Amino acid sequence: MSVDFKKYIASVQNFPNEGIVFRDITPILQDGKLYRAATHELAEYAKSRGAEVIVGPEARGFIVGCPVATELGLGFVPARKPGKLPRETEKASYDLEYGSNSLEMHKDAIKPGQKVVICDDLMATAGTLHATKELVERMGGEVVGAAFYIELPDLKGREKFPDTDIFSLVQME
Ligand code: IMP
Repeated sequence: MSVDFKKYIASVQNFPNEGIVFRDITPILQDGKLYRAATHELAEYAKSRGAEVIVGPEARGFIVGCPVATELGLGFVPARKPGKLPRETEKASYDLEYGSNSLEMHKDAIKPGQKVVICDDLMATAGTLHATKELVERMGGEVVGAAFYIELPDLKGREKFPDTDIFSLVQME
């Protein structure tokens, strides 16, 4: 089934701040066939890259990545906001327009040499991807791909990772 996913992404003006257009994937999630179709496309991509484990950053990366992992029979590793994971963690920070954010993963979450596909709903500046990739690589994992529902090419995230294979269902301005 070939789906025009763009039709089902809601664009919300001035959210969460004035001047921002928020791309909302919940219309896809609330329709079982669409959610399954989007999951399937990302799963086919992850399979083609030889993924051995799926990593997703909090919080929408869980929604996108977990069903990809279960479709492929792979494990899922969450990259969480600081202070949420109970055991020993690795931490990586990334810059936002104002200030910075951090993500943590359990230190034993990725085995050396393991092939990882990172899944999230949207890539904008790719700061989130950068931090997630850094954590995976610090543990000796190999990021063989990154998959998103939405990519914002104007923010040139892809250009920051010339050596990383990146897949998106739709590109939006
Ligand atoms: P980046 O780090 O600049 O690439 O921003 C991507 C991260 O911010 C992802 O984890 C997204 O979930 C979130 N994000 C940024 N803008 C949007 C949006 O318009 N819709 C949904 N999520 C967004």
